[in-house]
Amino acid sequence: MAIPENPYPAVTVDTTAQPVEGADTWYMIGLSGIPSADNQGHTSNAGFVTTGEGVVVYDALGTPALGFELIRRIREVTDEPIRYVIAGHYHADHIYGLQAFKDHTDAHIIGQSRAQAYIGSETARQRLAQRRDALFPWIDADTRVIRPHEFFDAEHSIRLGDKTFRLLHAGPAHSLDDGIMVVEETGVVFAGDIVFDGRLPFVGDDDVNTRNWIDRLDMVQELKPSFLIPGHGGATREAARAVSFTRGYLQDLRDHMARAVEEFLSFDEAYAQADWSEYEDVTAFEETHRRNAYAVFLEVESEMF
Ligand SMILES: [Zn+2]
Repeated sequence: MAIPENPYPAVTVDTTAQPVEGADTWYMIGLSGIPSADNQGHTSNAGFVTTGEGVVVYDALGTPALGFELIRRIREVTDEPIRYVIAGHYHADHIYGLQAFKDHTDAHIIGQSRAQAYIGSETARQRLAQRRDALFPWIDADTRVIRPHEFFDAEHSIRLGDKTFRLLHAGPAHSLDDGIMVVEETGVVFAGDIVFDGRLPFVGDDDVNTRNWIDRLDMVQELKPSFLIPGHGGATREAARAVSFTRGYLQDLRDHMARAVEEFLSFDEAYAQADWSEYEDVTAFEETHRRNAYAVFLEVESEMF
C-alpha cells in the first residue's frame, strides 16, 4: 500500500496507531498538556475501524498535519476507502485535522447538529486565531474550521461492510455537541470527551452541563464497552474504571461547589476550603482544575438561583 506524503508541516511527535485485538480497530493517543509547539497540538485521541468496504474514522486530531498523519496510519493497515469521519465534538483540539480529510479524501464528514452553534461563531474565530499563534506552523493562515457534510440529532446509524456504527448525542455535557460512537459488532466505544482516563477532564466550556455529563457517563457504563477509547488519556478494556474516575471527579466538583453556593461563599473561599488532595497528582491538575472548579461553581449557582 502506498503511504502518501504529508503535505503539511512535519509532525515529529509520536502518532503510532495501536490495534484493538480482534476488533478491526486502531487508535492514536495524544500527549498530555495543553496544545503547544512542544506537543505540536497532538493532545487528543482519534481512531478508525475497517469494515471490508471502507473505513470509519472517529475524530480528526488537532491540526491538518495530524489529520494527515491519521490518514497515513490508516494507509499503513488498509487500502479500503475512507468513507466516513465522525466529528465527535467541535473543540479546537479535535477538529482542525478534518481539513486533511476534506482536502485529501472523499470521506463524508458527520457532526452532531449542535455543532452548528460553534461553526462560524465568534468563539470559533477567536480560538482559531489563538491556535495560529500557539501552534504555528501546524496551524496557519490556511487552516480553517471544516463544516460537516451532514448533521445528526439524537441518534444516527451507519451500516458499512460487516459493521454497524451507532452515533449517540451525549450533549450538552462536556460540550453542546458531544457525540459517542458505538461499534455494535465489537462493543468498542469511542466516548470522545465524555470520558477522560488518567487525567482530569476539561470542564471549562461555557455550555458545560455536569449534571447531564454524569448522566451520560452512566449511559456509557450501561453500554458495557468491550474497549473504551476516550477523548484524552489512555484507551482501556477497563471501561468501568475510566468512567467512574471521570464521574467521581465531576461529582466531587459539584458537591463542593453546591455546598459553597448554599453557604454564600465566594468562589475563592470555596476553592480554598475544599480538599483537592486526591487530584493533585493527576495529570492536567495544574492546567485545568481551578478553571474546572470555577466553571462548576457558576453552573451550580445558575441552577440554584
Ligand atoms: Zn473537548
